[in-house]
Amino acid sequence: MDKNKELSKLKKKILKLNKNFPNKNLVFADGNKNSQVMIIGEAPGKTEDKLKKPFVGRAGKLLDELLNSIHLDRTKVYITNVVNYRPDKNRKPTSEEINEFKKILFKHIQIIKPKCLLLLGATAATAVLNYKGPLKEVRGKWKNIKIIDSYLDVLTTFHPAFLIRQPSQTKHVLQDLIKLSRSNINK
Ligand code: URA
Repeated sequence: MDKNKELSKLKKKILKLNKNFPNKNLVFADGNKNSQVMIIGEAPGKTEDKLKKPFVGRAGKLLDELLNSIHLDRTKVYITNVVNYRPDKNRKPTSEEINEFKKILFKHIQIIKPKCLLLLGATAATAVLNYKGPLKEVRGKWKNIKIIDSYLDVLTTFHPAFLIRQPSQTKHVLQDLIKLSRSNINK
């Protein structure tokens, strides 16, 4: 399978899913396509829409710092979102949108073939784990789940935008990232 070809086919599919997102740019992914770690956020914000790259605004800067704390950066991880367009006025994606984009996300995961997923926040946990309860109950726990045809390890943590509002929660995310760095991602 040629990853680049598969990814451009996937992008073409996403270009057809823009009806709820008038005049918004496709924000597909950033980082290393051959990484063992795929990070999944919610949806692009204003800066991401403008620069057509995920996690490049304030939350993205914080994500970079958090990753640096475990010696990871964008050359070592692959980053995308559940929804690939910015929802107007920074609203949360609806459950219909999550369901629609989830199929694309699963295909995206199948193409990248990471060893593990790091889910940032509730939208990613809903899309990937089908989990709709309080995030604090699922964060920091490894799950092994089947995505299309392969099993992979999935860790959920708080979204960096939440940490901007609640900096006292950062310690939990740092603990989760240490778990991630101790897993077999580098083996
Ligand atoms: N928040 C997200 O979930 N994704 C981004 O790309 C930026 C902010």
